[in-house]
Amino acid sequence: MQRETVLIIGANGQIGTALLPQLQAQFGSTNVIAADLRKPLTEPGIFEVLDATKPEALTDVVRKYRVTQIYHLAAILSAKGESDPLWAWNLNMQTLLNVLEVSRLHNIKKVFVPSSIAAFGEHAPKYETPQTSLLDPATVYGISKVAAENWSLYYHKRYGLDIRSLRYPGVISYQSMPGGGTTDYAVAIFHAALQGKPFDCFLSEDTLLPMIYMDDALRATLELMEAPESQISVRTSYNLAGMSFTPAELTAAIQAYFPAFETQYKPDFRQAIADSWPKSIDDSVARQDWGWKPAFDLPKMTTEMITNLTVVYPPLVSAP
Ligand code: NAD
Repeated sequence: MQRETVLIIGANGQIGTALLPQLQAQFGSTNVIAADLRKPLTEPGIFEVLDATKPEALTDVVRKYRVTQIYHLAAILSAKGESDPLWAWNLNMQTLLNVLEVSRLHNIKKVFVPSSIAAFGEHAPKYETPQTSLLDPATVYGISKVAAENWSLYYHKRYGLDIRSLRYPGVISYQSMPGGGTTDYAVAIFHAALQGKPFDCFLSEDTLLPMIYMDDALRATLELMEAPESQISVRTSYNLAGMSFTPAELTAAIQAYFPAFETQYKPDFRQAIADSWPKSIDDSVARQDWGWKPAFDLPKMTTEMITNLTVVYPPLVSAP
């Protein structure tokens, strides 16, 4: 069996930070190359400073390590992208096209390019949004994800590239802070609660959104990437569901641990983005094709977040 060498682009981000150790465990730490714009404070193995908008720099890394698989996680997310739409579009598209081209030219065996629930817009059904729905996103981020889905399908059909994708819901994790999305509140709220602070939520209390705990998001990613090609029927991007909840429901789940915890609701520009997204997702095609099943619901995710962040923050009440 040929040795696999895996490149993660955007490895310092919310998902990359958590995915890296899992890929190192699967492929061996000398066979996984982490890459991002800047070196992290502690280098978690082999690391390359890489700006993926530069095709030559990306090609150099692929050649240097004889890369066989790419996880392309670099992107500007939904809320951040709205501050400078053309910058977000250029970065998201340039990095994508560079990854697709280097993969085609250097016979990369498998590529992972995540999409998002942000690909959906006003005219997709809001509840149990089906796999095949109209995609008319409200943000430049969503537009770039729809374009990426179609480019992925094109490279698969035209060049036979084995490219796979998931439409991640909002990802909740303790390993690092999220990078500027509309679901970021669902991570920040735990950091406030663990520090004994009230939380200012930028969405209204009844904003129902699809979310997923990081463990489920990573397992879905690795299961999709390991599935035999014959089981992959979707080459744009698979719908993926974990759970759906509102800020009020999440606050109540946290109050089970910290009864005095309070959330104040101060919706800002991100409310309109959230309102344009699905409220729940139908992921039955992923379930049928490669056996996807989430393991975390709201109570289980809340317990895991509080348990893991208690290590980071000192306990609020010291033992007598
Ligand atoms: P993030 O913002 O936390 O991390 C992105 C990383 O990409 C950062 O470390 C950044 O430095 C790096 N990067 C940016 N420009 C780069 C460039 N030119 N070259 C190399 N690296 C560059 O994002 P994330 O939350 O880890 O998301 C990863 C992927 O998953 C993205 O495609 C995102 O759209 C998708 N996604 C994430 C979520 C979520 O809730 N986190 C939800 C849906 C989809």
